[in-house]
Amino acid sequence: MTTRPCTMHVVGAGLAGLAAAVRLAAEGRDVRLYEAAPHAGGRCRSYFDAELGCRIDNGNHLLLAGNHRTRDYLDQIGALDTLEGPFDAVFPFIDAESGCRWSLRPNRGLFPWWISSAKRRVPGTRAADYLAVLALRRSHSSATVVEALDREARAFRCLWEPLAVAALNTSAEHASARLFWRVLAETLGRGGTACRPLVPCQGLSETFIDPALAHLQAQGAEIRFGARLRALRFALDHVTELVFDTGSVALGRDDRLVLAVPATVAARLVPTLTVPDIYSPIVNAHFRCAVPPCSPYFIGMVGGTAEWIFRKQMGLSVTVSAADKIVDLSAEELRGLLWRDAALAYRVPADPVPPARIVKERRATFLASPAQLLRRPPITTRWRNLLLAGDYVDTGLPAAIEGAIASGIMAAARATEAAGAPVASHPQRSNAWNRRQSDSVPVHE
Ligand SMILES: Cc1cc2nc3c(=O)[nH]c(=O)nc-3n(C[C@H](O)[C@H](O)[C@H](O)COP(=O)(O)OP(=O)(O)OC[C@H]3O[C@@H](n4cnc5c(N)ncnc54)[C@H](O)[C@@H]3O)c2cc1C
Repeated sequence: MTTRPCTMHVVGAGLAGLAAAVRLAAEGRDVRLYEAAPHAGGRCRSYFDAELGCRIDNGNHLLLAGNHRTRDYLDQIGALDTLEGPFDAVFPFIDAESGCRWSLRPNRGLFPWWISSAKRRVPGTRAADYLAVLALRRSHSSATVVEALDREARAFRCLWEPLAVAALNTSAEHASARLFWRVLAETLGRGGTACRPLVPCQGLSETFIDPALAHLQAQGAEIRFGARLRALRFALDHVTELVFDTGSVALGRDDRLVLAVPATVAARLVPTLTVPDIYSPIVNAHFRCAVPPCSPYFIGMVGGTAEWIFRKQMGLSVTVSAADKIVDLSAEELRGLLWRDAALAYRVPADPVPPARIVKERRATFLASPAQLLRRPPITTRWRNLLLAGDYVDTGLPAAIEGAIASGIMAAARATEAAGAPVASHPQRSNAWNRRQSDSVPVHE
């Protein structure tokens, strides 16, 4: 089959855009990646914080070994070995009210015998409390997590609720029961091996972003930073032109466009596009302090303000998802509240409170409520050369790393389906490699 040469334009260098670009470049496509910011990574990146005097991540990101699309992506960019975590699936927890500590330890293998072992489950729960979660699978598409599960049960407070809030960045009152089921089916449902928690050894950028840019560069992809897409021009059934601040790019007949910008931006650029329109905040507090080196990678907390506390190279880092209740508190108030919980969890002195950076991501992800899920658009559009990617598109997965990467891979697959086979491996071009490391941050207090 002879095919015309065509260019794959990818706009947005967050995880969705990077995953699309990496997939397209791997197929020998001519790839151009445009990013508005002077750096890649979007909502998943690291930067140098001048006040703290160290690099921090915009937010703590936890992966599970069962996130296979993410692992494939990391494998492709040669960054799989930049993740670390416990050898087995172990989730240490503390109850901030009682001080009680326990570790959830799902066993390897598909048969979940761990639920019948008191040493592996939440203290004070029974095996039946875990089987009750099957109600999520049978729930109506409009049901929320609290409607499907018994919120009075200890397993709800100490396990299902913290997991739902962390995975969906949505309170159990609002979160879709079906979507939570999907998360559990892909992780706990696949046994302990799929639940092994993984975190970047250094930072988000060192794992997810920098190796992808280097890989794309090596593949001859052209990467343009500071390229903000202002408008798209349309003909009857296709996009004809990309209008950037700096000039326009006409699309060739067989070119494809993967639009991998956040939902709000996509809705401005694409007429009549429906997207989720309610967002849920995440608050992170990064404390520069000394931490015993052999302490756990992270600890989950119930009954406190903090939800997950991570041990980092720079100290301790606290995450609060679905953080509506605290997002308007001042940075000083948050510093005190969250340090009290972090110190308790890691058994370090509560006084003095160490220097901290509070990062509020008010639009961290869309609210994973049943109603908002109905607003997720498909990857394909009515324009034959325009594909959508991003954690908001309808992948059936939550707005998270795995979902963003899945969307990019799916968009790339649809883009190439229509374009046919690549012409030939294109020669290494001189790369518009104007990558700048920026220390600017999204939202700071
Ligand atoms: C604080 C925080 C904590 C999180 N924790 C986790 C976690 O523990 N586990 C997990 O799996 N997920 C987590 N997530 C979610 C995860 O980070 C996101 O789902 C994912 O990064 C979204 O990627 P994306 O490519 O869809 O969007 P984005 O990262 O938003 O990327 C979009 C890109 O498009 C660019 N852009 C915007 N407008 C334009 C334009 N006009 N022209 C050109 N470019 C443009 C942006 O600059 C950006 O680089 C967290 C998110 C946050 C904010």
